Amino acid sequence: MVGTFGDVHGQDRAVALLLRYLDTGNVPPGLLFFGEEGVGKEMAASAFVSALFCRNRGTKGGCGTCHDCRLHASGSHPNFLRVSPEKQNILIDDIRRLQEELSLKAFSDRPRAVLIAPADKMTIQAANALLKTLEEPPPGTHLLLVAHRISRLPPTIVSRCQKISFSPLTPREVEEILAGIPEIGSRYRPEEIHGAAACSGGSPGRALEVLEEAGGEREKWVRLLSSPDPAAITETAASWKGAADLSRKIAAPLSVVRDIALLSSGTEMGIINEDLKNALRAAAGRKTPEGWGRSLKALLSMSRMPPQAQKQLMVEAFLFEFHRKG
Ligand SMILES: [Zn+2]
Repeated sequence: MVGTFGDVHGQDRAVALLLRYLDTGNVPPGLLFFGEEGVGKEMAASAFVSALFCRNRGTKGGCGTCHDCRLHASGSHPNFLRVSPEKQNILIDDIRRLQEELSLKAFSDRPRAVLIAPADKMTIQAANALLKTLEEPPPGTHLLLVAHRISRLPPTIVSRCQKISFSPLTPREVEEILAGIPEIGSRYRPEEIHGAAACSGGSPGRALEVLEEAGGEREKWVRLLSSPDPAAITETAASWKGAADLSRKIAAPLSVVRDIALLSSGTEMGIINEDLKNALRAAAGRKTPEGWGRSLKALLSMSRMPPQAQKQLMVEAFLFEFHRKG
């Protein structure tokens, strides 16, 4: 989707900086958009490209109606190039292909923009190859790198880019953004949106994933914690096998156990899953507040496991252990 800066929420500082580059006509050849996944980096980069191409730019970026804006929106602006991983990583061949294209004359008289996303998926060889282009970019060419983890980029790349930092939003802001999306507002209940925003780490993108992933997951976890059911435990654990994104998978149990731990210690403040409160309160009696605290800790340490961890065994062990002890 190509929008304007008006579509980028909660990133006023980053947007102001980008607009300043455009207004002064001093657009750096290398720009690094970095910050938590799903907070609007790519949306901002895309709006920035529109604004670069637009012949009738306004205060919010591209006008959306001129020839260049329409070309870019349709994904076919000849001066726009995108480099993304075909499989796991961006490879040196991908960068070489880009360099070949950049060595040819541009089709249009507009600036040229290259979006590299996620740039932290470049192999070290690819990053080294890109260095040359960052050092001596062809005239009128801007490289936009989008990275979730700046620490995964070689310092030589980082130091050659102007850094645009994107910060996590407050849960409240995430909730407002989600509720403002018509198809989300109509599909999910306000409590569900509230819950997803609360465990999104300030990322609207992640909150959306949590919402989609959580369909029925929270209820399932309340049941799993309420009574020992070996068959259900085995089945749940099997669904974790090979799960690509542990932080997404663990969001539902984490929010449920966190809520029960709060309820069991006698407070209702800050409960995420308001809609499940009765079931949560019933489950709370199964353990002492300390017991729930230990379970929460165990889940938190699971959420920090490396991607190659044996997730199926981990969940199975957690649940059997949970029902064994008080
Ligand atoms: Zn335009």
